[in-house]
Amino acid sequence: MKIQEIAIGTIRIPLVTPFRTALRTVDSINDLIVKITADDGSVGFGEAPPTAVITGDTKESIEAAIRGYLAPAVVGLDLSDLDEIMRRMEKAIAKNTSAKAAMDIALYDLYAKMLGKPLYRVLAKDAEERSNDACTQSASCTGAELETDITISVDETEKMVSDSLRAVADGFGILKVKVGKGGEKDVERVRAIRQAVGPDVILRVDANQGWTKEEAIATIRAMEDAGLGIELVEQPVSYHDFHGLQSVTKAVDTPILADESVFSYEDAQRIIEEHAADLINIKLMKTGGIHQALRICDLADKYQVKCMVGCMLESKVSVSAGVHLAAARSCITMADLDGPSLCAEDPYEGGPVYRGPKIFLNEESGIGITRMPVEFACVARAK
Ligand code: MG
Repeated sequence: MKIQEIAIGTIRIPLVTPFRTALRTVDSINDLIVKITADDGSVGFGEAPPTAVITGDTKESIEAAIRGYLAPAVVGLDLSDLDEIMRRMEKAIAKNTSAKAAMDIALYDLYAKMLGKPLYRVLAKDAEERSNDACTQSASCTGAELETDITISVDETEKMVSDSLRAVADGFGILKVKVGKGGEKDVERVRAIRQAVGPDVILRVDANQGWTKEEAIATIRAMEDAGLGIELVEQPVSYHDFHGLQSVTKAVDTPILADESVFSYEDAQRIIEEHAADLINIKLMKTGGIHQALRICDLADKYQVKCMVGCMLESKVSVSAGVHLAAARSCITMADLDGPSLCAEDPYEGGPVYRGPKIFLNEESGIGITRMPVEFACVARAK
């Protein structure tokens, strides 16, 4: 099966409430969609959000990278040699991980469809995992089942408490609390949330680089001393402060999860080998897609490091690629895949089913998305 045509379009979906972190505020998803058509007519879909404050990728840069570099590099190639396709994309342009991820996801979707299998079975590490994996976990669906956390945006304490209570009432048992706006105030935010939701809800804290090294150590220790029962703290310091991250990890008991500090396989390798964090957050928009994410999973397996699969503000196409990855690989023990839960509507059909905190995979081929209400413009066609 050959890559016949590559096209791009845009999807816009309003959010239920504005998404606020230490870095930005956003009120709708406005993502680029890639559609890749094979010479037998089957199609694969990918998605990329413009997350300029984290990846450096804007809508314009994602489009330009695909149109000018990535699509021309792979159009006409045989899909059966995915490694070669990925190598050509890597060589075509440096960085631009969101554009690469959108292409990579569409290619994996199409590749799994070519094999007639759901993507998570294609990504599983060995034959045993492929036949067993999580398929028997749930009686209510034919495939695997995951539980995602949900993000509580950083805000005034009162608002964060009411958002947390609503999430718990909606069935979420794991909250990812955004902090990083004033260390002492952050302790109060988390304390108030813990008091409101009780001891059984799992609390993850994400500072999104908002603290200095000293502030991070003092704040996390204060949360520990107050007995707030925090599962982990994500990205306490700036992404380029490797030694700061390492110092925080050494100084506190709470596990530290590296997010913005880990884009590539090489980033993950350095963090793990020099113990600069305890856990790794894999996001397809940072790795440049599934191909590189699988390499990080292999590394995590080797060192027995647990990973989270996270997402940016993405809708169901690319988040579902993350869902398939999480279901396929045992090093991934945590899912932060709440993008579709934050959307006010679901414009797609097919794919995993998102029901509150639960995500159910099924046996549809590829990622599973069938309806795609997007107008596409062709950017490359095989001769
Ligand atoms: Mg994060």
